[in-house]
Amino acid sequence: MSAFDFKFRQETDDDWMAFGSCRGLSEIFFAPLAERPQTRLRREEKARTVCLACPVLDTCRDFARAHREYGFWGGESEDERHQAGFRLIAPIGVRV
Ligand code: SF4
Repeated sequence: MSAFDFKFRQETDDDWMAFGSCRGLSEIFFAPLAERPQTRLRREEKARTVCLACPVLDTCRDFARAHREYGFWGGESEDERHQAGFRLIAPIGVRV
């Protein structure tokens, strides 16, 4: 382990990610290029269903909000995080 690895592990607490119900399902949590709005809504509803049964939902939502993540995290879309006051650094497709 390098000094960088040790520092990185101390600065991020991401052990909870191992318990996420979305492991292996990236295609429904992150948009493909040029995704149409209707397709995005359908994809995000599938992701929401997975999140609602996930044991780390609250932790995931808080993490995504704090880190201004892209994609669907913790039962929230980018748009919903934005509406909750957690703006993306460079919003893509946010509807306000
Ligand atoms: S809450 Fe959703 S995005 Fe977060 S780890 Fe669970 S399934 Fe994945």
